[in-house]
Parts: sequence; C-alpha cells; structure tokens
Amino acid sequence: MRNYTKHYINGEWVESSGSETMDVINPATEEVAGRISLGTQEDLDRAVKAARDAFPHFSTTSKEYRIELLEKIAEEYKKRKDDLIEAITEELGSPVGITENVHYKMGLGHFETAAEQLKAFEFTERRGGTLIKKEPIGVSGLITPWNFPTNQTSTKIASAFAAGSPVVLKPAELTPFAAVILAEIFEEAGVPKGVFNLVNGTGETVGNGISSHPDIDFVSFTGSGAVGQKVSENAAKTIKKVALELGGKSPMVVLEDADVKKAAKAAVTNVVLNSGQVCTAATRTIIPKKLHDDFIAAVQEVLPGYPVGDPNGPNMLGPLVAEKQWDRVQGYIEKGVEEGATLVAGGTGKPDGLEKGYYVKPTVFTDVKNDMTIAREEIFGPVMSVLTYEELDEAVAIANDTVYGLAGYVVGEDEETLQDVASRLQAGRITVNNAKMDFTAPFGGYKQSGVGREWGDYGIEEYLEVKAVLGMPS
Ligand code: NAD
Repeated sequence: MRNYTKHYINGEWVESSGSETMDVINPATEEVAGRISLGTQEDLDRAVKAARDAFPHFSTTSKEYRIELLEKIAEEYKKRKDDLIEAITEELGSPVGITENVHYKMGLGHFETAAEQLKAFEFTERRGGTLIKKEPIGVSGLITPWNFPTNQTSTKIASAFAAGSPVVLKPAELTPFAAVILAEIFEEAGVPKGVFNLVNGTGETVGNGISSHPDIDFVSFTGSGAVGQKVSENAAKTIKKVALELGGKSPMVVLEDADVKKAAKAAVTNVVLNSGQVCTAATRTIIPKKLHDDFIAAVQEVLPGYPVGDPNGPNMLGPLVAEKQWDRVQGYIEKGVEEGATLVAGGTGKPDGLEKGYYVKPTVFTDVKNDMTIAREEIFGPVMSVLTYEELDEAVAIANDTVYGLAGYVVGEDEETLQDVASRLQAGRITVNNAKMDFTAPFGGYKQSGVGREWGDYGIEEYLEVKAVLGMPS
C-alpha cells in the first residue's frame, strides 16, 4: 500500500494544507493500492510561487546545462525501471510486458529525444538587423490523464525543461503513482528547487486552479474534450496560452491491395493496445466491401492472440482503469447492438473467469454506419467498428467525417495510393502500414482533437515565447 500523501513543492516533500485524501484502486484486484492527498488552492499557490521563484535562474541557464540535465534524468529514469513498471501496472492495470515496452519506454524516449533535439535547437535567429529570440514562456501548468502515466507527463516535462520553463504538474488522480517516482527521479538528477512541482488532487480544485491561476503563463492539458474546453475558458480570463491534446475517433483505411491478414493484425493490435484506452486508437476500420468477409474472418483468427487477464501474467490486455470506465464501455457496446451494428466478437459482460477486476471483452462490430454512436464517440475501450466502402473517395470521406482529427492509419501496398490517402486524411499524425514510433515526430490534433503540438522540437516550441529585437547592429 503506497502512502503518497505528500506533494513535492520547492524541492521538498510537504504535507498538504488540507486533510482530504483519496484511495487509488488497483483495477485488476479492485483493492486499494495507495493513497494520495487531494491538494488545495493553498498547496497549488505554494507550488506556483516556487516555480515562479525558480524562473529567473532556470530560464537563463545555458542550453548545454539543460541538455546535461535531461541526460541525467534519462539515466536516473533507467535506474527506476522496475519501480516504474510495478507502479504503472498497479495503478493502470496495464500488463507488465506492455508497461515495459510502451509506458516505460515512451517516458524514457521523451527525455532522451528532448536532450538530442535540444542540441540542434536554435534559440536565436538573425534577419539582417533584427534578432529573433525564443525565450522560456514562464511557469507552465501541466494537467495529464490516466491512460499513459509516464508518456504524457514526460513529454510535457521534457519539453518544458528543454525550454527553461519551471512546471507545476497535476497528474490524473486515478493513476498518480508514476508521477511520484518521476519526482524522485528529478530530485536524484539534480533538478533545481522549484523547477518541478507536483500537486496531486482533483480537476475541480487543482485542475481549475491551474488553468485560472494568474501566475501560470501556459497550460498544457491532455484529456477529454469537455475538460479541454473548460481549461480554455478559464485560461482565456488571463489570456493564457494553452495546448490541448484531446480525444480521437481515428480511422484506419485499408486499401484494396492490402494483405487481409496483415491488415486484420494491424487493426486488432491498434485497437486493443492499453485495453483500447489510447487517444490515437484506430477505432474505425474502413475496408473495401469486397474484402469484408475475409477481413472479418482474419480478425476472428487474430483476436485469440490477444488474451485478456491478470496484468502480472503474459496477457496482452489488462482491465480498464476503473469501474466508471467499465460501465461506460459496456454502455457503448449495448448502444452498438441497439443501433443495428453486428457483433462479430466480444460483447457485454466480463470475459469468462475474470469476475474480479474491470476486464472487458475485446469487441468487434461490423455493418457499422458512420452516423452510429459507436462510430462518432470516443469509447476508450477495445471496441472496433468496421465500416465498408466501394470507392476510395468514399473511404476518405468516411474517415474525415468526424469532429476529431488526432490520428489516421493507411494499410496497403501501392506507394502512391498510400501517400495519396495519407495526405487527404485530416489528422495530425498518419501512420502508413506499421511504421515504427518516432519520438521526433510532432504529436497533436486537427479539429476538436486539440491545439498545439507535443514531442521533440515542436513540443519545445510550445514552452517558448518569440521576441523580435529590431535595430541590432550586426
Ligand atoms: P479528463 O479530461 O477527465 O481528465 C484529464 C485530467 O484533467 C485529469 O488530471 C483530471 O483530474 C483533470 N481535470 C478534470 N477536470 C478538470 C478541470 N475542470 N480543470 C482542469 N483539469 C481537470 O480525461 P481522462 O478521462 O483522464 O482521459 C481520457 C481522455 O483523455 C480521453 O478523451 C482521451 O482521448 C484523452 N487523451 C488525449 C490524449 C492526446 O494526447 N490527445 C492522450 C491521452 C488521452
């Protein structure tokens, strides 16, 4: 049982000024795995003050210093590998193999990439007699969701540190463990006092507190659209810059010349990762009508290769993060059946033998129309909707007929068609066939999937202001 009831403010672990705590539930066992304090406005004010006080020095540190700091963080992060994997598996229910290969590695990737990208990053540019300078934006408030406890925190923190901006982090209250370990890593790595501050708590108090705080200059938020809107509204009152990484309903367009088995594998792998709790999940698989029956047969063949069960075993899917999330996913599966989609795998209820824990069955619907609820709303569970097309233009139209634009996927053989579809999809990140992860590639959404970009140099830019100095002798 983890007792994480202290906040990390100004380089110290401190008691909360309030007395409210919250239990953190292990979703695989439904038992209490730890406890956090629910921070107060006073706790937040202390953290913001610490960050503000750290700003004058940290913002003027050299690029070389910050590269070394990020490299030191990456080294310390590696030393805490086992602790991070244990904590994330416990709080999120993610299977250990996925925790190591996805969650642990993504967090590390962001620190390593930020250090590397910073080496080539130019903070000044000359245009004749004008000097253009990029300067740290000030104090950044970071608000993160529960589905990737190290990825979202690390990409924000790495970019902020690279830019020279001190931060106040409020991680998701459902999965706060990894952030505590990150704070310990930063302490070991020698992050100066006040540069990193962690205040646990609810969105209502600490989240709203961050977005409306007059002493916070920039808010980077990852989470749902509804909360993103609230963050924007609050931030507008002090004309604060915001970056929003929100939801998605991403399409995977399978081309006519695709190898059906490979396509089915790509579709299933993508939709079951992290039990479907992925903002970029390809939840709408758009396939040629003539490949339909073969594709569904291939999906049914592939699915048993992704067993659901105890995250401490060799399973590919663990439970969903919380009971509320389980109920929500069940509701969508019911809705899919009600609205006339055909269930070809999974369905409501828990998988056999998994009565305890928030486990769901990987579920596949076909005969889905793009106006059905399951094709329009983000489910955040392992639920695939299969839609068909006759002409490629129709596939692209279906793919783009969504309020979201976070990611898109194209699977097939012909290079030209792959490129053509990739360029016509309205989304911030397109993956062609099974392209591997690139930490330097910008990440963010079109349309209601967000504002701004994270990862690599694009991520660093978010934490900078641009100053033009005219009349500089050359
Ligand atoms: P959420 O919006 O409920 O919560 C996200 C964070 O915001 C949490 O830390 C929460 O405590 C906080 N919060 C809640 N109310 C707040 C308020 N009024 N002001 C400020 N902060 C507040 O989202 P969630 O359920 O934790 O995460 C799931 C959502 O996140 C999904 O919609 C998913 O698509 C999205 N997401 C997006 C990305 C991306 O990069 N685009 C990545 C992961 C998740």
